[in-house]
Amino acid sequence: MKEEQGMYDILIVGGGPAGLTAAIYARRAGRTVLVLEGTGFGGQIASSHLVENYPAVPSVNGVEYSDALTAQAKALGAETRFGRVSAVRREEEGFILTAGKKEFEGRSLILATGAKPRRLGVEREEELVGRGISYCAVCDGAFFRDKNVAVVGGGDSALQAVLFLSGVAGHVTLIHRRGELRAQGADVEKAGVRGNVEFMLNSRVAELLGEEKLTGLMVEQGDGSRRELAVEGLFVEVGQEPDNAVFAPLAQLDEGGYFQAGEDCGTMTPGVFVAGDCRSKGLRQLTTAVADGSVAATAACRWLEGR
Ligand code: NAP
Repeated sequence: MKEEQGMYDILIVGGGPAGLTAAIYARRAGRTVLVLEGTGFGGQIASSHLVENYPAVPSVNGVEYSDALTAQAKALGAETRFGRVSAVRREEEGFILTAGKKEFEGRSLILATGAKPRRLGVEREEELVGRGISYCAVCDGAFFRDKNVAVVGGGDSALQAVLFLSGVAGHVTLIHRRGELRAQGADVEKAGVRGNVEFMLNSRVAELLGEEKLTGLMVEQGDGSRRELAVEGLFVEVGQEPDNAVFAPLAQLDEGGYFQAGEDCGTMTPGVFVAGDCRSKGLRQLTTAVADGSVAATAACRWLEGR
């Protein structure tokens, strides 16, 4: 069923920092905009504990940042809807997106679909999600007050999770497969001086222990020895994966499934732009997501003018 609002100038898929920044720029250029979001406005930054590398903002809570961004886009007149896009088709006048039982029409598209947490890939992982296994420390950390927990991963998300959890849980063990962490040095140093944080490097989670819920981990260490860790929570922070397959007919994907785009965030289809973590790029940060959002919206407005 087609929505009654008719044709939007720009349909934005994804309500994270890239999509919402695109909405702000497009509204300020006088374009009608609908942002469709599948889960929660704010994107991944809403599950970040603290953002401390955004220029001129020394420290901001991830939820506060994403609430402020969403409010700014709405105040400027961007329309927002919950809906997961399951199909897209191109018509003479533009594009039609299907989300649930609804269809939305737009003259141009900005795809800002982000990325979702990668699974660790250990046996019984799915079965124990919500029973000890989580992909979001900020969302679920409070369930583990004063308990022992572990975090897997060596990137910024893992270190952010460790820093957040060390203020809630009793003890936090960071398990990382290599001897080196790729996270920002400042966060690694902060975690290193917390009294309740332990690093287990060159280690991997070999088994999840517990029947109804997680009670521990069997960790295989670099020398081949095994160590049992009694933990009630395991926070998996091993990176992200894109979820772009539905849009593949419009925008070329690289071997990892990320959109390929030019400097102006344009794709192989005129009128289709991509922004943020969903696109192939060297640095996925809040700064680069909002930069993409502004570039993609400006390019989309220019493209609309030229029609
Ligand atoms: P990431 O940087 O891709 O790091 C993923 C980590 O998980 C790596 O340390 C990787 O190990 C490890 N890993 C991957 N697959 C694994 C597996 N199957 N088993 C065990 N370990 C595995 O992902 P991220 O930390 O989620 O960050 C994603 C992007 O967001 C990055 O660009 C990051 O800088 C950015 N980010 C920024 C902030 C911030 O600015 N404050 C906060 C969060 C995220 P290896 O190191 O061995 O490859």
